[in-house]
Amino acid sequence: LEDLFKLGSAALKKAALNEEAKTYLLANPVLFGLLKKAARRYIAGDTLTEAAPIAASLNQQGFRCSLEFIGESTRNEQEAKEATDEFLRVCRTIRENKLNASVSLDLSHIGLALSNDLCFANLTQLCQEAVVANTEVIISAEGTERTDAVLAMYQKISATHKNVGITVQAYLHRTPDDLKQILSLPGRIRIVKGAFETSPGLSLSRGKELDETYLAYAEQLLSTGHLCSIATQDPFIQQSVKQLIGKHQPAAQSYEFESLYGIQTQQLTALKEEGYPTKMYLVYGHEWYLYLCNRIAEHPVNIFQALNDIVAE
Ligand SMILES: Cc1cc2nc3c(=O)[nH]c(=O)nc-3n(C[C@H](O)[C@H](O)[C@H](O)COP(=O)(O)OP(=O)(O)OC[C@H]3O[C@@H](n4cnc5c(N)ncnc54)[C@H](O)[C@@H]3O)c2cc1C
Repeated sequence: LEDLFKLGSAALKKAALNEEAKTYLLANPVLFGLLKKAARRYIAGDTLTEAAPIAASLNQQGFRCSLEFIGESTRNEQEAKEATDEFLRVCRTIRENKLNASVSLDLSHIGLALSNDLCFANLTQLCQEAVVANTEVIISAEGTERTDAVLAMYQKISATHKNVGITVQAYLHRTPDDLKQILSLPGRIRIVKGAFETSPGLSLSRGKELDETYLAYAEQLLSTGHLCSIATQDPFIQQSVKQLIGKHQPAAQSYEFESLYGIQTQQLTALKEEGYPTKMYLVYGHEWYLYLCNRIAEHPVNIFQALNDIVAE
């Protein structure tokens, strides 16, 4: 059974990145409607108008939020501009509604796959609006073919903006070198295990070595008080990081536990009730296909939950 789950998980990760499958799905209203019922568990709605009240309600419960208008790999300048405009609306909504929320995004959503200059111009505009909203922009980590470009863009924007953070993937063998480059920058460093399939030899699989590596990065950040986010749903990592926090006593403003909306919420709630800073990562929009595939692929028993959501009245 475990082999079957591994096979299913690998297939879903491939399907997630398959443009043909995505186009087919978006053009097929019946299939789109059915899968959307499964996606609902993980997405805060189709629009910002739906997502903002969810963020407000989570804030009331004591969670900070990250907000992402979901999407990636924008194919033309117009789409990149539309995505940037939507992120600007996110910043304005945060300000107007006094949300305790930051903005998260894939750089390829605002043009990185098209041109560095275009992406930099869009990111600069976004960071300026985030300053006005008194919030942070956190850049996501994408597939390994984009890691260099994403990090270079982060370094470039950090020269003018301090309210920008970056996500690093603990599973990549290159991450210690990348950390050396970015530790001197002020932005928040979000540590994740890593969601994408990589070519052989580039990454660690899930398991003890990856957990130890993740925790070593967490300790590096917590012991120096660098702004960081412990982004995971893994109860073992969360409990181990609590011990590291006890050991190093970083300022509460410097770190946060961050989990994806709709996944193992009870764990984040328990951390919040114990007094730790916690953040819920909320995504909204139409482009949830890759996101849904990844959430099922990383925890294949979720396929049963998805089937149940699809057939539920
Ligand atoms: C805030 C946030 C931002 C992220 N940003 C990025 C990014 O920019 N780039 C990137 O590559 N990845 C990103 N990820 C995804 C990340 O890389 C992992 O794929 C994801 O967090 C699952 O790994 P894990 O740390 O939870 O541990 P895993 O080892 O995958 O899982 C450990 C345990 O956590 C629980 N769990 C994990 N996933 C699920 C699930 N889907 N459903 C139910 N239970 C689950 C289970 O109990 C599981 O046994 C992000 C994750 C978070 C939380």
